[in-house]
Amino acid sequence: MSEVKGRILTGDRPTGPLHLGHYVGSLKNRVALQEDYECFFIIADLHTLTTRPDKNAILSIQDNVRSLVLDYLAVGIDPERSVIFLQSAVPETYELNLIFEMLVTVPRLERVPSLKDMARAANLETMPFGLLGYPVLQAADILLPRATLVPVGKDNEAHVEVTREIARRFNRMYDEVFPIPEALIGEVPTLVGIDGQAKMSKSLNNAIFLSDDAETVTRKVMRMYTDPKRVRADVPGRVEGNPVFIYHDAFNPDQEEVRELKDRYRKGKVGDVEVKKKLARALNAFLEPIRARRAEYEADPAMVDEVLIEGTRRMCREASETMALVREAMGMMRLEV
Ligand code: ATP
Ligand code: MG
Repeated sequence: MSEVKGRILTGDRPTGPLHLGHYVGSLKNRVALQEDYECFFIIADLHTLTTRPDKNAILSIQDNVRSLVLDYLAVGIDPERSVIFLQSAVPETYELNLIFEMLVTVPRLERVPSLKDMARAANLETMPFGLLGYPVLQAADILLPRATLVPVGKDNEAHVEVTREIARRFNRMYDEVFPIPEALIGEVPTLVGIDGQAKMSKSLNNAIFLSDDAETVTRKVMRMYTDPKRVRADVPGRVEGNPVFIYHDAFNPDQEEVRELKDRYRKGKVGDVEVKKKLARALNAFLEPIRARRAEYEADPAMVDEVLIEGTRRMCREASETMALVREAMGMMRLEV
């Protein structure tokens, strides 16, 4: 292994399977960087509670957690090298979260734009205390392993900024315990949904999942949103901002084919069906090795549990070291009981 450049912390909420947006926003960077960084991948089940605290949602977390681990392994996260862990099983998370709550103001959190969007998407009329604290909890996640780099999608950039402020504040008030982590935004900062909505999202029913089979992918691509002004194949179309071409750019390795399709589309010399068929083919070629690896791991559920348990143990060791430094720096009273 080459010299370690630092530590990564990033992850996902177990609200459903991972999709193409996660891949270009964050997963691709995670896989690429695991050789150079010590990686901690968090399955953020406590963050799920901020918008979905009802019992049924909580009960569905279990299956979603396993499915997330499978998705990670399927895209090429190497459990020998990287740590995959469950947030709620690391007690220090709650502890550091509480300490960090003292280092940030309510108006500061009210300025984080994604929180209002999340509240709206979850049909919450007023902001729950816990949802307002979403970025604070995320700061605890990031700083517990003292991460230096956080590969995330664009919607998470503002959260990492809160983490940086909290880390600086802690270091200034007490002692230099934390690095100031950098966000690393993916190649496609926010991937549009198949419906043309700004963001592909598990909750918006506009996603192509990494675990979708070939037929499902093709069906979803064939009903994708394109240029609405283009009513016939001989009408010149718009390539810019057109989801079908955004996906071609992101996932079709045959650049020449993409260039040629764009050219004909602009001139009104190609039908949507051909553009979409070629996209479906490219996406399925991209997803095929991911599906194959997923099937291999799916056949070994004990191994999936093992990865999560081992990873969580490893994270717990890191967490207790960090918390010892935190309490020491703050001068908290120590009481042996
Ligand atoms: P939910 O709808 O439950 O919020 P989500 O699809 O937004 O789910 P998260 O678990 O909130 O997914 O996000 C996990 C990571 O993936 C974050 O780093 C986020 O920025 C990134 N991400 C999610 N959706 C996209 C997207 N469409 N494009 C780029 N990055 C994304
Ligand atoms: Mg989200």
